[in-house]
Amino acid sequence: MHEIPSNLEEEILRLKREQNAVILAHFYQDAEIQDIADFVGDSLDLSRKAASTNADVIVFCGVKFMAEVAKILSPAKKVLIPDFKAGCSLEDSCQPKDFSEFREKHPNAIVITYINCSAEIKALSDIIVTSSNAKKIIEQIPADREIIFAPDQHLGRYLEKVTGRKMILWHGSCVVHEQYSEKELVKLMMQHPQAKIIAHPECPQNLLSYASHIGSTSSLLKFVEQNQGGEFIVLTELHIIHQMQKKNQSAKFYDCPSLDKAGCTLCNSCPYMQLNSLEKIYLVMKYGKSDFGGELNMLEDLRIKAEAPLRRMFEMS
Ligand code: SF4
Repeated sequence: MHEIPSNLEEEILRLKREQNAVILAHFYQDAEIQDIADFVGDSLDLSRKAASTNADVIVFCGVKFMAEVAKILSPAKKVLIPDFKAGCSLEDSCQPKDFSEFREKHPNAIVITYINCSAEIKALSDIIVTSSNAKKIIEQIPADREIIFAPDQHLGRYLEKVTGRKMILWHGSCVVHEQYSEKELVKLMMQHPQAKIIAHPECPQNLLSYASHIGSTSSLLKFVEQNQGGEFIVLTELHIIHQMQKKNQSAKFYDCPSLDKAGCTLCNSCPYMQLNSLEKIYLVMKYGKSDFGGELNMLEDLRIKAEAPLRRMFEMS
């Protein structure tokens, strides 16, 4: 087992300078990881930022599909992942073999896929979308064209509602957003009647119906920044509150409890994002490969196929 230095953060920053690396952290990472990162943001924004820097190495603190997007957009850069097990329930729900068969059942449909999927699923898609640009892109598809939307059924239903387009939905979901308890949300609303409810569209419809603002992580942050002071009940992964508090220091934030099937309260953190830690970041930077993480490699053929629907998204958004 490798030794972990006591001045861990300093060592990470030293390795970063030595290797001309850039550290990217998603909004759902622990505060200590967000605070050592060069950029904190949503997955696409981070990958675009990394592609625009002259760094040789990208250390992606998020989940695997996000690091894949960074590799797709920056093939010449080395992409390091602190823990290969940091996956995503949406990605897991949509396996290439099943998705190919699903596609074949609807040969005339255009396949629009949420960015939270593997590179293999991207390669089987026509256009990739994020929660910020999905509405705009769907509205550009001719009205008589069938649309397959994957893998998040809740985001899909929300988009059906805001665009008025019926779509063929894949039935994946996010483990974090699906488990919020409506009963607990109503309790919280009664305790804080002035609080605005802000929600990510990966939440099911029954929860979204209470929200004053629905949007991507970047849109939720912007809303909090534009409404200084006040109280907010947050229906997305709780670690984003660290950035919300920075943008609106006098505000009060409440994360909505989730309940498991037995009625026990759960922590609203993404179990995959939580696999990353400063120690694992240090190890992968120091040794290039650790017991947990290492370099993300991708076959060039797959990279090219997965890049095409991402580029289509850039053109249409
Ligand atoms: S919060 Fe949900 S969608 Fe995001 S990485 Fe975790 S499981 Fe996937």
